[in-house]
Amino acid sequence: MYNNMLHAYIIYGTGEPSPLSERLTAAALCSAWEEKPCGTCRDCRKVARGVHPDVTNVTLLKDARIITVEQARDLCSDALVAPSESDAKVYIVHPADLMNPQAQNALLKLLEEPPPHVNLLLLAQSPDALLETVRSRCVELYERDETEADAPSEETMQLAHAFWTAADEGALALTEFSFKLDKLERAEWTPFLIAAKSVAAQRLREGAGKLSAEMTFRAVDALTRAEEYLAMSVNGTHMAAMICAEITVNGR
Ligand SMILES: [Zn+2]
Repeated sequence: MYNNMLHAYIIYGTGEPSPLSERLTAAALCSAWEEKPCGTCRDCRKVARGVHPDVTNVTLLKDARIITVEQARDLCSDALVAPSESDAKVYIVHPADLMNPQAQNALLKLLEEPPPHVNLLLLAQSPDALLETVRSRCVELYERDETEADAPSEETMQLAHAFWTAADEGALALTEFSFKLDKLERAEWTPFLIAAKSVAAQRLREGAGKLSAEMTFRAVDALTRAEEYLAMSVNGTHMAAMICAEITVNGR
C-alpha cells in the first residue's frame, strides 16, 4: 500500500509524532523489498528507536513560539544532500501549525520539485494555520476520523459547561474560570473551543442560562477569535483573558 508513496503528507492529529507518522517514516526508509514497513529490517528498527540518521525532526527551538523561516530554509538545503544510510530521507515538521507563513512559503519550492529521495511529513493539529498552497501540494491524512475528532470528550464538555456557568455568574466566576483555561495544553484548546461553541448553540436553542443571547453571541465571537489566535500561536493566558474580558466588559 505504501509502494507508490507520494513525497509530502500533512497528518492532522495532535501535531506531534504518532504511530501513523512513524509508520509512514518507516515505510519511506524500510529496506525490505515489499510489505513496507516490514518492522524488522535495520531501517525500520532504527526508526522505531528514533535513531535513524535519515530522519530529521524540525520542531520548536527552545523558548520559541514559532517554527522559523530559517528552520524551513535549513530543511530545504539539507534536503539537497543525499541520504546517509537509506535510499530516502524523511523530514518531520511538528507542530506544523506553528510554522509562520514565511516558513511555509520557504517550503514551497521543495514541495514543487522535491528531490526524489525526500519525504516531508507535516504534523498539524488542524488545517487552519496552513497555507492553501502548501495544503494543495500535500496528501492530507487524518489521525482520527472527522466525526470522532468533532466529538469532544466528557471532560472537555464539562469544561465547556463550566465556562458558560461562570459566564452566567459574572466577572468573579469568569476570572476564576480563566485560571482553568490558562492550564490547558495547546492541543486541548481546539476541542474546548468547539465544545464551548456547541454548548452555546444548545443554550441559544433552549433559551437556557442567565446570559442574554446578545452576550452569548459576543462570547461566541470571542471563542471564534480565539481559534484564530490559536492558529497564530497566541498563548493560552492571552486567549483566556480575551474570552473572559469579552463577556465581563459592557456592563455586567
Ligand atoms: Zn523494514
